[in-house]
Amino acid sequence: MNQRPPSRMNQRPLVVKDHSLPRLREAFARRELAPFRADQLAGWIYGQGVEDPGRMTNLPAELRERLGRDLLLHALELESLERSEDGTRKGVLRARDGARVEAVLIPEEGRTTLCVSTQVGCPLACSFCATGALGFTRNLTVAEIVDQVCRMRAELEPGRTLSNVVFMGMGEPLLNLPAVLEAIRILVDPKGLGLAPRRVTVSTAGVVPKIAELLRAAPVNLAVSLHATTDAVRDVLVPLNRRFPLRALLGTLAALPELSRRRPVFFEYTLMAGVNDAEEDAERLVTLLAGIPSKVNLIPMNPHPDAPYLPPAPEVADRFLGVLARARLTATLRRPRGSDIAAACGQLALRDARASARALRDR
Ligand code: SAH
Repeated sequence: MNQRPPSRMNQRPLVVKDHSLPRLREAFARRELAPFRADQLAGWIYGQGVEDPGRMTNLPAELRERLGRDLLLHALELESLERSEDGTRKGVLRARDGARVEAVLIPEEGRTTLCVSTQVGCPLACSFCATGALGFTRNLTVAEIVDQVCRMRAELEPGRTLSNVVFMGMGEPLLNLPAVLEAIRILVDPKGLGLAPRRVTVSTAGVVPKIAELLRAAPVNLAVSLHATTDAVRDVLVPLNRRFPLRALLGTLAALPELSRRRPVFFEYTLMAGVNDAEEDAERLVTLLAGIPSKVNLIPMNPHPDAPYLPPAPEVADRFLGVLARARLTATLRRPRGSDIAAACGQLALRDARASARALRDR
């Protein structure tokens, strides 16, 4: 019998979903597995959604036997799945260390969007966001980001396919950029999850020095959480604004060569009664965004017990939208989805995840 060199015997298990295909092929080669086996395995887990080694009929028995032992397929378990009245479904997913994150499936006419998390908790502490109130535990790994897609995709109703992924769950994607980029490579690889890059959107609270790096690395959509038109208000809502104020953020966006009318910035603006919903705010917003290819998504505040803010009356929101529309700014007023199961924007982490973050910290 061939004896394996000790270095190989001590090798740590390979977490398959941590690696984009080119790197997975290399990792296979290092384990004396033929690189094309990596493509075959990707075909099962990403192409077919099959994770049971017993069904991977074109793989040799020896490789199938190693799956689950020194090649790990699962980074997350689906712990619970809640269904909202409007069809939105929130999954609570548990990592190997017990950390929990949430992912939200949003079925719509003509498309199905999955909202994924990038961190356990979030360090940015935006004053209106439930995840912010949770504090920060750790970054998610590549495999934990990718597995949110694999696990939740398996819960789709027959006939539905996943069309869009938005990095708008728990956490700040640009503070976990290397993992987010590697996950995106798997998402958009035709031999991976096969999504069109323009159906992937990364949302940031405004980590200015990382924005250009994201757009240079991946042709995805950029969303920016703006929420205010003065530094005085934005400093309170998004404390990161004290490091990267509006002028720095908007100046950087205006100078990005990747952006165009066909590829605008999607600005998220959460409307909070009496805080940022005045007509003057709308007018300032128009002025601030002049010169940046923009689409504005107005999101009425989803109230929760950790924040003192409330959504404006519908006519106030309509008036705000009207000011933007008259200035020919493309804007939509988003209706909240999944709020009855705390799956709407900024409500993630309201229940189980909070307990689990505390448990992890206290360990
Ligand atoms: N950290 C990233 C990703 C989170 S995206 C970012 O800030 O962009 C989630 C979006 O929902 C952000 O625009 C966030 O500001 C917004 N949001 C957070 N709490 C909210 C709430 N309670 N109601 C409405 N929108 C909220």
